[in-house]
Amino acid sequence: MKITQLSAHGCQLTRLGLVNCYLVHETDGFTVIDTGIPGSAEAILDAARRFGGQQSGSQICRILLTHAHGDHIGSFDKLSHLVGNALSAISARDARLLPKPPAQDRSLDANEPQCKIKGSLPGVTTTPTHFITDGELYGSLRCFATPGHTPGHFSFLDERDGILYAGDALVTVGGKPHISGWAPWFFPLPNFGTWHRPTARASVQRLYDAIPADTPIRRIAPGHGGVLEGGRELLEAALMEAS
Ligand SMILES: [Zn+2]
Repeated sequence: MKITQLSAHGCQLTRLGLVNCYLVHETDGFTVIDTGIPGSAEAILDAARRFGGQQSGSQICRILLTHAHGDHIGSFDKLSHLVGNALSAISARDARLLPKPPAQDRSLDANEPQCKIKGSLPGVTTTPTHFITDGELYGSLRCFATPGHTPGHFSFLDERDGILYAGDALVTVGGKPHISGWAPWFFPLPNFGTWHRPTARASVQRLYDAIPADTPIRRIAPGHGGVLEGGRELLEAALMEAS
């Protein structure tokens, strides 16, 4: 697990060079954003201990999921078990994809594009304690509904340091920002897993339009790829590529 400190609050954890999860420090401990592939839980805990260091609250208090795909929930059960009474959250929409089959609900709502939900959906046994909603402040993280990759995908903006934890709304493998569905040929995985490309593009457009000037995006921290310095201009480039 490669550990990269991003700011006083944020830390990127990377496995296999391609799968990211994040630690976000709050006054009472850490929020983990996504849990990576299976087998990542011990390393996430270890990273929290190291990154927490002398700071008060190096324990994991919350687990926040951008969406229900296997490379983001892979260590959710194990991490939940290891940290005991952590709170956990995902959107109500992607929570339907979270149980293991047959309880898993892959149905589409009448007002949604009638496309099959794609990607790996192995499911988990842990039940989230909270459903995040659009615009909510979860700790220091402003929650934005960014459907498209999955129907209930969310991204999170830390308003203290301007880091946008974009999940798979944006992919930066290769060093440039791409909307899911337009990832480069050498890393097509997010494209194969994307439910509805026009919705994914509309979500990034909405991020571009909705994030106020007094809490700008300063960096983009995706589920796959390195962290990119910049904000609106990166969203603009990604939108341009996808038009
Ligand atoms: Zn992913």
